[in-house]
Amino acid sequence: MIALRGHHFLCTLHYRGAGYSTDFTDNFTALCDGVRAAGAVDVEVAAMADPICTACPSLQPDGQSCQYQESIMRRDHALLDAMGWEPGRVMSLDDAHWAVLARREELMGQVCVGCEWLPRCQEKGPYGLMSPLTRSQADGR
Ligand code: SF4
Repeated sequence: MIALRGHHFLCTLHYRGAGYSTDFTDNFTALCDGVRAAGAVDVEVAAMADPICTACPSLQPDGQSCQYQESIMRRDHALLDAMGWEPGRVMSLDDAHWAVLARREELMGQVCVGCEWLPRCQEKGPYGLMSPLTRSQADGR
């Protein structure tokens, strides 16, 4: 099982190897590789920091809060409120991703405004390493 904070249900659909630092991308890619190897995993909705955050340069010494805490929490709440999900909820990662994919445009309009990665995510589409659109392919990179 993995854990994802709210807005990362969108980010994991789009992540293709770019990020804030080498440590961040190495960690994120390893998480994607783990999901791809497992095939089917459950996901728990995290209240704050998740395994993607652990290698982020913006993670604070408390291991939970972010340098940009207010905007990050706003993104999390926007996704979770729209989906009707609460921290602690456990579900199939594929089911969660398909549900988010079905509302991708609407959700990005609420969650991603102001994110520096938005042009790239829009250009590349929802074909990231953890996306069910990509994981069914032999090599989605
Ligand atoms: S635009 Fe930002 S918040 Fe939205 S999916 Fe991309 S990286 Fe995540």
